[in-house]
Amino acid sequence: MLSGMIFCPVSPSYSTIELEHAVKIINPHCIFAGNSTIEKLKKMALEKICNVISNIYEIDDSGSVGSFCGFLKEKTSIKPTLETCNGREQVAAILLSSGTTGLQKAVQITHTNFIAQNYAVRHPYYDDGQHGQETVIATVPLFHVFGIVAFLSNALFKGYTIVLMPRFQLEKYIDTVYKYKATILHVPPKIVGLLATNLHINPNHLKSVKELRVGSSALTVTLVEKIKSKYPFIKCIKQGYGLTECTAVCHMQTPVYGKHCVIGSVGCLVPNVRAKVVDIDTRKSLEANKPGEILIQGLVVTKGYFNNDEATRNTMEGNWLKTGDIGYYDNKGNFYVIDRLKELIKCNGFQVSPTELENLLISLNGIADVAVVGIPDDLSGELPHAFIVKNSKLTLTKREIINYINDKVSSYKRLRGVTFLDAIPRNSVGKILRRELKKIDTNEKFYA
Ligand code: AMP
Repeated sequence: MLSGMIFCPVSPSYSTIELEHAVKIINPHCIFAGNSTIEKLKKMALEKICNVISNIYEIDDSGSVGSFCGFLKEKTSIKPTLETCNGREQVAAILLSSGTTGLQKAVQITHTNFIAQNYAVRHPYYDDGQHGQETVIATVPLFHVFGIVAFLSNALFKGYTIVLMPRFQLEKYIDTVYKYKATILHVPPKIVGLLATNLHINPNHLKSVKELRVGSSALTVTLVEKIKSKYPFIKCIKQGYGLTECTAVCHMQTPVYGKHCVIGSVGCLVPNVRAKVVDIDTRKSLEANKPGEILIQGLVVTKGYFNNDEATRNTMEGNWLKTGDIGYYDNKGNFYVIDRLKELIKCNGFQVSPTELENLLISLNGIADVAVVGIPDDLSGELPHAFIVKNSKLTLTKREIINYINDKVSSYKRLRGVTFLDAIPRNSVGKILRRELKKIDTNEKFYA
């Protein structure tokens, strides 16, 4: 970033198909990758899928950065000056998100977006962590906006000690929290669920913890209550709400429960962000306690998707960002997110694009039509489930279809099950009626 380069983190566990899509939409000048990703990139280069692969820098698991250091030295000598950097326009990072519909897109985050986000979350009203005295465990991935803002910027800026974990493993995580006496845990609701219910984790393991910062999907009131009763010494369980397109959070609960913090709400607006709730059909602003789509405005909002003006136009309404989430606010300014208008599925806090799975499924011989929706799950939030209309050529069983897809995608995108239907419900212009599908009982025999 200092050298004016744009940083585009992607998941190290991406499958070749996922990596291919990322490389295509980002079109990077060079790639820094660990051993396993290098193998996938080499395969892509061999198959001439991408032409950028001439500039790959390998960072191996032992931590050796080899050519990476030389590269950085060369590049960081080109420092942008204040005169040449227009923070509102100059892109600092590109992050991947499928937004309200379709495949993953490249969200442009400017320097101003990052600065505004950092000032917002560091505001003493939201962050009462003691400068230089807290220890945090970086489990939330550093390729997701939550991890970038929480660790790469906010925690570093506040002088917190950051313990990095390459990947989440429950036992190792608990050992790390205990060993390093972590004081603040940044966790998605899935990990909150594990902490609350896993019988092998006892309060002593977490005795150093005073705060949980939770985001990336909905945290239920029941879960908050379970955590509070199992770990009464954790004084603050703070939920944030936001999206990649607004550089992480636009709403956050204050550290202290009381006047401004209601359990079950996602908190109030962070500084320099405005929101309105509009009627889904008429697009008119709604008053307090009336649910509609939440729209956001402010310095944290992306200037748009890279190389995709159509998607940018579709996600903006005037100069408001459409979140695709349904919610309302109360008379004290607390917001509540109650449903999702957009297609997105969230599994373990990660984005799953139904379109991506539908495209893979429709390429199978014997599938006439398909729709993928998220089925509620206590631990993961939602799990992807496919509704399939088959034709006479389909010879695969449900299990074989599931295996075919699950071999091709990251673990959190794996199908939980398949249901065969006679027809996918669609509206007059062919749009899938996902809400209708969600009403179908999918619990019986989805593997048979
Ligand atoms: P991402 O861009 O991956 O951060 O995903 C953003 C989406 O995750 C939002 O538009 C919401 O649908 C969902 N989300 C994030 N935080 C929350 C929350 N606290 N409560 C409910 N949904 C959330």
